[in-house]
Amino acid sequence: MPRLQGRDAVTDITMLMNEHIRNLVPYSSARDEFQGDADIFLDANESWRGGNDGINRYPDPVASRLRRKLEEVLSLPFACTAVGNGSDEIIDMLIRIFCSPSDSVMIERPTYGAYKVFADISNIPVVDVPLGQDLYLDKAGMIRAIRDRKPKLVFICSPNNPTGIVYSLKDIAEIAEMNEGITVIDEAYADFAEGFESALSLIAGNPRVVVLRTLSKAWGIAGARIGILVADERIISAFVKAKAPYNVSRLSQDMAIHALEDRKAVEDVISGIRAARKAFEKEAAGYPFVREVIPSQANFSLIRVDDADRLWKYLIGKGIVVRNRTKEPLLSGCIRITIGSEEENRALMEALSEYR
Ligand SMILES: *Cc1c(COP(=O)(O)O)cnc(C)c1O
Repeated sequence: MPRLQGRDAVTDITMLMNEHIRNLVPYSSARDEFQGDADIFLDANESWRGGNDGINRYPDPVASRLRRKLEEVLSLPFACTAVGNGSDEIIDMLIRIFCSPSDSVMIERPTYGAYKVFADISNIPVVDVPLGQDLYLDKAGMIRAIRDRKPKLVFICSPNNPTGIVYSLKDIAEIAEMNEGITVIDEAYADFAEGFESALSLIAGNPRVVVLRTLSKAWGIAGARIGILVADERIISAFVKAKAPYNVSRLSQDMAIHALEDRKAVEDVISGIRAARKAFEKEAAGYPFVREVIPSQANFSLIRVDDADRLWKYLIGKGIVVRNRTKEPLLSGCIRITIGSEEENRALMEALSEYR
């Protein structure tokens, strides 16, 4: 991806980073200091004793094999990717790389809770911009707030959690263009959206755009903790410098490669979930206690009901756990329900049809 072109010639993105990160001398691991083939590795104080899975050895700090697989399967350019211990680690690191307590982080509201929590942990002020009444991004409000507050990082989640609503690429591009800080587009649910236009296409023209992907949702390996950062190479190298040296375990890297090798299985799961989501939304619209079904592009549905607390407790009584979002701004009465297996969805709909 091109460097220092357009307006970026004026605002070099490395100048947006904290000075101590720019000047950081990274930890140099044994694997950093020697790469390549040898017969005997006596450089990392590992145990000589191990199986053929190599678990006695430290993992690749930069997950090269996995990133080559990501390039092959998802067309994510090798030089522009890094792997985190879940996207959660990447969110935390981006905040630590770019923000100091005199800066701010901007989020839409409601959205994924982790952005605010990680900003809070680093003592970075959070500016939240409420979504519109239609739960769509308030573009004008966001642009105004960005001009006003000049945040270092703006998080936009599309499809958004917990609404499942996708924002148009044009709107995202416009915000990212006027934002002189970094715009992070979290596309955790991208795989479920139909006709999705990814913000990945913006990075080449605007190096202040960062995209997050994850293997936790559609790819089905939430337990392995694989988050993917796609960004300009300068942001990738800052991340690699600042992260823990062995942030993603060998088991997780191997498991991710394995998961990516079966794209067909994942596509089948995705089309099944899309169909089940549509069926659920249609069914839910007919329940007398449902006031609104928010049309989702993710692997969950958001419904607004008469009494969310009561419905939530009722479902718990039936052994079904859903997420009560009624306390979130704009979401009073809302319950978020993950689309499960056929059997799970059937049990859910049966319970809902008996709810009085
Ligand atoms: C689930 C989710 C993630 C995934 O986080 P991981 O740490 O990769 O498991 C990221 N962003 C959003 C909005 C999510 O809902």
